[in-house]
Amino acid sequence: MGSSLRKSFIAGNWKMHLTLSESAALAREVRGAASEAGPEVALCVPFTAIGVVKDAVQGGPVQVGGQDMHWEPQGAFTGEISARQLVDAGCKVVVIGHSERRRYFGDTDETVNKKLKAALGAGLLPIVCIGETLDERESQKTYRVLETQVKGAFSGFKPQDLSTTVIAYEPVWAIGTGKTATPAQAQDAHTFIRKLVARTVDEKLAARMRILYGGSVKADNIDSLMAEPDLDGALVGGESLKAANFVRIIQFKTQAGKERKA
Ligand code: PEP
Repeated sequence: MGSSLRKSFIAGNWKMHLTLSESAALAREVRGAASEAGPEVALCVPFTAIGVVKDAVQGGPVQVGGQDMHWEPQGAFTGEISARQLVDAGCKVVVIGHSERRRYFGDTDETVNKKLKAALGAGLLPIVCIGETLDERESQKTYRVLETQVKGAFSGFKPQDLSTTVIAYEPVWAIGTGKTATPAQAQDAHTFIRKLVARTVDEKLAARMRILYGGSVKADNIDSLMAEPDLDGALVGGESLKAANFVRIIQFKTQAGKERKA
């Protein structure tokens, strides 16, 4: 349920899905359902869809985001995109260090740190993804992994630099598997992360920092997840591609029948 210090935030991660016309249609449906009174909403879309999604959500509260970026402002990096180019195309948000980038494309805590610096320098709101694998959880290494990832991502930053930064706790075993962390498991990890940021960066920053949960979030589990005090929102993959389900997710309810306003 978060705190009054933290406006809740739901971001969709479309991954490598949808054509331009499908993207525009889905974005229009999300725009129609999002309201200023509800949570902040972002759609993190394939690079090619940024333009059409930006046009589709124009004038509404939905923000557009990229799913990755390079840390250099420009240069001979074939296939890459810079923070400046994302901003220029209409993005306000960027996902950094998603577990799929870490697993398949070589992202490390060091490159996540460089990307975070470049994203903040360009004025993007970064969503920094962290999370343990099943092996790591089963061998009691979850806290150690989260600590290494947070310290690595935030190395060299002053608290004021990180005021807009959002963390997404995404246990790798829950992403795209249909296996959601229980609300208690998610709350436990979020509490650990918040205390870690308080201890290693700054207490006030930690109290204000939004920590999203990601990993098989669905219309039928969002309410129980959002009832936890340290869950400030969600990063949603598969279900963000289904308009009705994603709309129900952004309209989550935290108490019987009551829609959450902020
Ligand atoms: C994600 O892509 O960040 C994610 C959490 O995916 P899914 O919701 O499909 O598990």
